[in-house]
Amino acid sequence: MNLQSQNPSPAAVSDGVFIDNEWRASASGATLDVVAPATGEVFTRIAAGNADDIAAAVAAARRAREADWGQMTATQRGRILTRAAEIVNRCHDQLAALEARDTGKPLSQAQADIAATARYLEFYGGAADKLHGDTIPFLPGHFVTTEYVPFGVTGHIIPWNYPAQMFGRTIAASLAMGNACVLKPAEDACLTPLRLCEILREAGLPAGALNCVPGRGDQAGAALAAHPGVDFLSFTGSPEIGAAVQVAAAQNHVGCTLELGGKSPQILFEDADLDRALPVVMKAITQNAGQTCSAGARLLVQESLLATVTQRLRAEFPGLTAADPESDRDLGPLINPRQLDRVRRFCAQADADGIPLIAEGRIDPGVATGGNWIAPRAYGPVPRDHPLARQEVFGPVLSVMSFADEADAIALANDTEYGLVAGVWSRDGSRAIRVARQILVGQVFVNAYGAGGGIELPFGGMKKSGHGREKGFDALYEFAATRTMVIRHD
Ligand code: ADP
Repeated sequence: MNLQSQNPSPAAVSDGVFIDNEWRASASGATLDVVAPATGEVFTRIAAGNADDIAAAVAAARRAREADWGQMTATQRGRILTRAAEIVNRCHDQLAALEARDTGKPLSQAQADIAATARYLEFYGGAADKLHGDTIPFLPGHFVTTEYVPFGVTGHIIPWNYPAQMFGRTIAASLAMGNACVLKPAEDACLTPLRLCEILREAGLPAGALNCVPGRGDQAGAALAAHPGVDFLSFTGSPEIGAAVQVAAAQNHVGCTLELGGKSPQILFEDADLDRALPVVMKAITQNAGQTCSAGARLLVQESLLATVTQRLRAEFPGLTAADPESDRDLGPLINPRQLDRVRRFCAQADADGIPLIAEGRIDPGVATGGNWIAPRAYGPVPRDHPLARQEVFGPVLSVMSFADEADAIALANDTEYGLVAGVWSRDGSRAIRVARQILVGQVFVNAYGAGGGIELPFGGMKKSGHGREKGFDALYEFAATRTMVIRHD
């Protein structure tokens, strides 16, 4: 499929800020260039919002909460989200082409992302009126009940790796609960979130219930995190900025959820089904060019299996190809030159330290020279204290390490500051479950691995990977406070 013939119409995406269901020029009038990662070419512009735009967006959200949006029933809110899901599905090809161009990801991955975005809207649309409080047995002559109360105005700061999906997962859950949202999408890729705002308006979302201020992180992002009119923050991005957002939340005494990445292990025991496991292992490090919080970045292999796995990677990994989004191969370019430089530095250090390069994929010779291209790599055995074993690369670099036995596998899997996702591969079901339950992560797969997959599945971190849960019903509880009512009737 050709991106040009798909007509992603980037020019049709506004370069303004979206407040009260209208596009307006940013307060400063400034804009930022949007660069295609696959070519390095500027192809459109977005607004460079600042603190004034954030203040206007927060005020609009507050008005919406106090007016028609705040008065709607959960069923009415759900119907709007469900209608938005239908519109996203109708616009699927156009949104996917836009996502592929903006992020550089292969077209079929972008298509899967748009389908997932529609699923988020559908799931939370359906869930909106299915969240019930409790009754709690208490003292004689008392009746106690709980209800879930939206916080009010929620601030959402999302990254560039899955713009459409991130929009779906954080905005749909918050709107379903009845909050009014202010979104700051990432400056490196935010065109689909801008279009999705229009789609929600088309679906009937009242003015002010969703506002979007694109712009730089240190301006629009920092202003949103610090705004005293925001009642709750949801952040996905780097641990460093996540810490800053948490400090800002603390200063305003509001809560936040943080999803901050990982160094996720996949554990291959000697009885693993390699024919099932290895394709999944390779996909989990090349999906989105490794720029996935839950990328399967560490492959932990039982010593007795290491030679076989190394041999298989040597045979199969070189087939992995980085190519233009429309060629739709295994992976696209990295998002920007800064990210490319970072990943190259990790590889250069591994090379300088004498870490064996097991195998390298390829870059399609037809790609544009201005793109941020890197071939996927597998290194190993990687020593346990090496940066490749411990730090998040956020690129298509797989670190292969070995372990002796079950206890060693668990220790090694947990030997990282992160705790987002893990995979355990073994034909011994008891062992797989026993091990899986000892890994300090928010999501663990047995004989499977889904890098962040599953709208229905609660997702989030332990340790430096952050706190709070997105996806599934858990996300709804994050965006609401429990109000307990105690009624005395004797
Ligand atoms: P990455 O390094 O992967 O780009 P970041 O954590 O820098 O991840 O970015 C994630 C999101 O946080 C983006 O929307 C970005 O604009 C925003 N951001 C960056 N700096 C700040 C900041 N100081 N305060 C709030 N948000 C920020």
